Amino acid sequence: MVHSNYLINTYDRLPVTFSRGEGAWLWENHGQRYLDAVGGIAVCGLGHCHPAVTRALCEQAATLVHTSNLYQIALQHELGQRLCEISGMDGAFFCNSGAEANEAAIKLARLYGKQRDIRHPSIIVMEGSFHGRTLATLSATGSRKVQAGFEPLVQGFRRVPYGDLGAVEQVARNTSDVVGVLVEPILGEGGIVFPPPEYLSGLRKLCDEYGWLLMLDEIQTGMCRTGKWFAYQHEIIKPDVMTLAKALGNGIPIGACLARGAAAEVFQPGNHGSTFGGNPLACRVGLAVIETMEADALAARAAELGERMLTGLKKGLSDLPWVKGVRGRGLMLAVELDRPCGGLVRAALDHGVLINVTTGSVIRLLPPLIIDEQQADQIVDAVVHATQRFGQRT
Ligand SMILES: *Cc1c(COP(=O)(O)O)cnc(C)c1O
Repeated sequence: MVHSNYLINTYDRLPVTFSRGEGAWLWENHGQRYLDAVGGIAVCGLGHCHPAVTRALCEQAATLVHTSNLYQIALQHELGQRLCEISGMDGAFFCNSGAEANEAAIKLARLYGKQRDIRHPSIIVMEGSFHGRTLATLSATGSRKVQAGFEPLVQGFRRVPYGDLGAVEQVARNTSDVVGVLVEPILGEGGIVFPPPEYLSGLRKLCDEYGWLLMLDEIQTGMCRTGKWFAYQHEIIKPDVMTLAKALGNGIPIGACLARGAAAEVFQPGNHGSTFGGNPLACRVGLAVIETMEADALAARAAELGERMLTGLKKGLSDLPWVKGVRGRGLMLAVELDRPCGGLVRAALDHGVLINVTTGSVIRLLPPLIIDEQQADQIVDAVVHATQRFGQRT
């Protein structure tokens, strides 16, 4: 079960198979139940098998699944409109994953540069960032582990430390080929790292000053995860380009690259495309996700529950010498330890709770936004106890 001869070995999988899900619960074949604080890595914002998603999926599957972007797709127009309404963007391109959404953003920025006579456009990217596993997006990613072995990398990225406006300013002064900045509002895979306050506003100002595109990767932070529809809405700015995926389809593959102003005019027919992207099935589900998040005020709910969990985690963990930090915004929460703690995932699993560890020493919690107080507290208790035991043992 752990290793299959029939699969290429890209994942170190835990020895557990889920056969059914409902809300924040997952069940194994023979009945054991798990509380899910990972949510398929920030994908299942509405939890597992949310009735509104299931209904949309079933109805649309019985009506029309796929045509092609050769034709008008009413549901794609509708989803584009809804996304623009909640984000303040002007247009959407639909694809099937986060990496693809970022590929679209990178291509858009390069073409934006070419249209302004910049022959070798470069994009500023961050240390510690994660943007995907395709060649361009792994080249943009600030992690050697993701890149190692896949050289030659795609050119045209300039890397600076995350959260350091001065470093971006320095690039601005010394180079004339920059066309944009690609950045996560909060580093996700990079360990739930928060930039200093006003960082995005500072980047916005620099982008305005130099005519660059501010491109936000909201693939993990978007769709109410941090207590707003999108994380940039905590500051009073708008990006020129924003990428989405993960929670937009609650598990049905869909990605989106949204653009605003001049950035929304860059692509013309023939510049970019996707066979599956924005098909009726995926768009219908995206619409159901937005409708449900809005009707149930899940952004506010994420903010409220996140506050509750953060307080609980701090109370239980702050005094432990091996805990370096407890942080979070909305239901994107982290406990950073002073040592590798990958083993905690298995320990929590054995206690019926799914958690994630990223960058080796950061416990990451991304529970569904539909959890109730009791489930939130149960997750906090599990993490506190596991972390206490873990530190005493290692
Ligand atoms: C998950 C993630 C991606 C990649 O998305 P895929 O759907 O796996 O291609 C890109 N950027 C961020 C911030 C992510 O969290």
